[in-house]
Amino acid sequence: MQVRSPEFKESARIALTDANLQKALGNLKAGFPAKRATAAARLPEFEALRDQARDLKNHIIEHLDLYLEEFERNVTANGGTVHWCRTAEDARQTILQICREQGAKTVTKGKSMVTEEIGLNEYLEKQGIEPVETDLGEYILQLRQDHPSHIVAPAIHLTLDDVADAFHEHHKRPRSEDPAVLMQEAREMLRKKFVSADVGITGANFLIAETGSTIICTNEGNGDLTQTLPKTHVVVSSIEKVVPTLEDMTLFLRLLARSATGQEFTVYNTLSTGPRRPGDTDGPENFHVVLVDNGRSEMVGSEFQEMLRCIRCSACMNHCPVYGAVGGQTYGWVYPGPMGSVLTPQMVGIEQAGLLPNASTFCGKCEEVCPVRIPLPKLMRHWRDKEYEKHLSPAAVRYGLKFWAFFAKRPGLYRLLSASSNRFLRLMAGKKGRATRLPLAGGWTDHRDIPAPSGKTFMQQWQEQNR
Ligand code: SF4
Repeated sequence: MQVRSPEFKESARIALTDANLQKALGNLKAGFPAKRATAAARLPEFEALRDQARDLKNHIIEHLDLYLEEFERNVTANGGTVHWCRTAEDARQTILQICREQGAKTVTKGKSMVTEEIGLNEYLEKQGIEPVETDLGEYILQLRQDHPSHIVAPAIHLTLDDVADAFHEHHKRPRSEDPAVLMQEAREMLRKKFVSADVGITGANFLIAETGSTIICTNEGNGDLTQTLPKTHVVVSSIEKVVPTLEDMTLFLRLLARSATGQEFTVYNTLSTGPRRPGDTDGPENFHVVLVDNGRSEMVGSEFQEMLRCIRCSACMNHCPVYGAVGGQTYGWVYPGPMGSVLTPQMVGIEQAGLLPNASTFCGKCEEVCPVRIPLPKLMRHWRDKEYEKHLSPAAVRYGLKFWAFFAKRPGLYRLLSASSNRFLRLMAGKKGRATRLPLAGGWTDHRDIPAPSGKTFMQQWQEQNR
């Protein structure tokens, strides 16, 4: 996927005036956050589970090599094969090789962000292999030659109208806006593909070291058909998805659906443990796991290590005011929202993705809802530091920071300046009590007014309160 993160500002401007997108984002904001809050409130131990999940993930990351090796041993003992891929290119070539060995012309795919990360679909198409997305959202996007805007609900940026148009154009059926009719159409189209596919490719929510199993959590059941019907099942997973035991996996499952969609549990939680055994009634003849590093092992031991705790639940973006205003595609690469603002610079470079960690108000909501308590604002701040150190920040930011630092080191002057700014803002706000235009603050006032501050500075109010 082409990196469009350097266009963030322009894309955001367009997104803010896109009525269709704003309508679709309105549905997101009205849905997932409220459902998560209800689901969390109904589970008294929810907060304690989050602490356990954070601690367990920290332990796993510190022993990542041991758990991955245990996982490989058990996959092999079950009759499967593990492929270690340091880069995206290694992973693409490995998957192509498996497809070629099977003489594959068509592969079905379950939803997998890591296959988006490695650009698998485009690559397979160039090699003459047709990838067919089977998750409904991904299927719609594939018809429209579009990309996911959310890691759990990939087509959340589209309206029913958009879907009806896409199906009408590609299925050559009468146009319908009835979700049940559209669903039935997609089912009919996909059933043929499920049956004829040579290889099925899925992601994995977790890899279980003690059994050599992988698990996918879906709400549609498409993943089950993808992994059981073709002769060959390929699981593509990033390395940090490993957990020690089945019991550990259940801890994360209890948090995952509640944090993502507010469900108590995802509808289908399907474990795969090697290829079909004698006597099994279904399952693939060949089982491969492609483990993708793609920069993750460099995060171990770095200031970004905590990001490896991520279980891809999407809670951070569901609650992010910036994501809620501009949508996921504005971020310009695979992972949107706060988690993407930390991961994207790691994977494509801060030179290309420097705008993302800056696209945050640091309100802290993402950290507040993250089931594994990743301090996302702190990690974004690390990226801002790196950007500054590499002299990549715009001159206005650099001089602005120097200007601020000059005053911050001189408290008397700082107080004088903040008191005068306070008076200036009140003057600009006038009788309306809101400033509609301010010098150097067009980025804010072009879209919203600034309310007049109280007549006292923060420090004055603080001292009054303490008295
Ligand atoms: S960073 Fe946290 S909230 Fe965001 S997707 Fe990952 S686990 Fe979920």
